[in-house]
Amino acid sequence: MTNTIGLYWFTQDLRIENNPLLQRASQEVDTLICLYCFPKMTRFITHYAQEHRFSAAKIQFLSQSAKCLQKSLTALGQQLVVTTSTPYAKLQRIIHDHSVDHLYCDAFVGTDEKQVLRQLKEQFPSLIVTQDHVRSLFRKSDLPFELNALPSTFTQFRKQVEELDKPARNTTTTRLPPPLQIQFEETWPKLPPTQPALFEGGELAGLTHCQRYFSSPLPQHYKQTRNELDGMDYSTKLSPWLAIGCLSPCTILSMLAEHEHQFGRNESTYWISFELLWREYFYWSAMKHGARLFRFSGNKPSAPLTSFYPQRFLQWKRGETPFPIVNACMHQLNQTGFMSNRGRQIVASCLIYELQLDWRYGAAYFETQLVDYDVASNWGNWQYLAGVGADPRGSRRFDLNKQTQHYDADLSFIRRWQGHCSHAQTDGVDMVDWPIVPQKGNQESI
Ligand SMILES: Cc1cc2nc3c(=O)[nH]c(=O)nc-3n(C[C@H](O)[C@H](O)[C@H](O)COP(=O)(O)OP(=O)(O)OC[C@H]3O[C@@H](n4cnc5c(N)ncnc54)[C@H](O)[C@@H]3O)c2cc1C
Repeated sequence: MTNTIGLYWFTQDLRIENNPLLQRASQEVDTLICLYCFPKMTRFITHYAQEHRFSAAKIQFLSQSAKCLQKSLTALGQQLVVTTSTPYAKLQRIIHDHSVDHLYCDAFVGTDEKQVLRQLKEQFPSLIVTQDHVRSLFRKSDLPFELNALPSTFTQFRKQVEELDKPARNTTTTRLPPPLQIQFEETWPKLPPTQPALFEGGELAGLTHCQRYFSSPLPQHYKQTRNELDGMDYSTKLSPWLAIGCLSPCTILSMLAEHEHQFGRNESTYWISFELLWREYFYWSAMKHGARLFRFSGNKPSAPLTSFYPQRFLQWKRGETPFPIVNACMHQLNQTGFMSNRGRQIVASCLIYELQLDWRYGAAYFETQLVDYDVASNWGNWQYLAGVGADPRGSRRFDLNKQTQHYDADLSFIRRWQGHCSHAQTDGVDMVDWPIVPQKGNQESI
């Protein structure tokens, strides 16, 4: 009998519980290698974000999550190989050196991971690749339509999927095949000094947060509070753990059902599942549209009319625009790695409609900063607001004064995050000053 060797490539599925793909791997191979590669700044992101590295908050959250997974795998007799090398380099080396037969990984939305997989399949034609939708609520086969017939608006999508039985994927892996008896070299990103973090990374912390939230009365008022700008309790704050798969949306929905059983079902508790369907819609939309997610024209035949103003972009990133509410939100993002949904809509509208910049610069900057960065939700929401995505209304411009009156009437949010900027003049830097961030040698690549 030959010994089958599997390789589980963890990406945005950093969990053991409710991970059907890991369970499948545990049943199919004799020996298993578990690998996690920290995300890297790509040329595309460096160019559009005009940044060389991810935020400290994001690196810290990812590191904590990888450490937690490593601990859980060790408790199951496994080990997690952690690296800052590029996924292709590491994967192809392991597959080659250890004669790996099976590769297990997410059914990726992101184009970079898809490209890595294409290259590996070419290089190792006999490698058996098993993918699954480990981050979404539904699998492709659960959807009541073919992917290319995905409804063009969220409402049509919601109406078709809302009544479907929610997939019960209550899998807990309690046994795993042993690891290869080899000491792999590990590399971790250097952690820049950080402020106390808002979120602790890892499956354990995510489950604890989820349990705390749903065993409290907070979900009963979610719909009334969800648009607030500041604080931990106005919305679920599940997105950081969801984004890198420390939590499965199936786990969240089953905790929501328990909450409804205990406290009662109302419009607010329904609205949490409604918002999770937005996430689901952006996921399938990204799956359908592929690289169009990153195109200036998005899903539309023509691109918006914009010019490029380097200084405006820099001011927006630093929170030095003439709009205090925008500045406050950007300071909050830069200091914590998080911003409310309302804040994201406000700053995105400002970048697109007041500063008249290409929406992709904003989306890329968010990618470098957000602890809950999710490729489909981020780029999908930016497209939506820029009028090149799934919005039936065409575009969404927010009146910044009205938003301030409505969501920060006493200006306490602006004061707390120092939104007033005394030197908010625009357009003092010329195109020739591009790029606006000096190129440095020896940069951290993560
Ligand atoms: C320009 C822009 C960029 C965004 N980028 C991201 C991103 O990178 N990652 C991300 O997870 N969300 C993103 N969102 C969506 C939303 O802002 C966050 O999901 C939400 O603020 C996270 O906080 P929460 O978990 O407390 O959300 P809650 O209000 O408690 O919602 C519960 C869950 O529903 C989902 N959800 C809520 N609103 C949305 C939405 N508009 N689109 C998709 N899913 C949603 C999230 O998974 C969230 O955790 C973006 C929104 C905008 C306008």
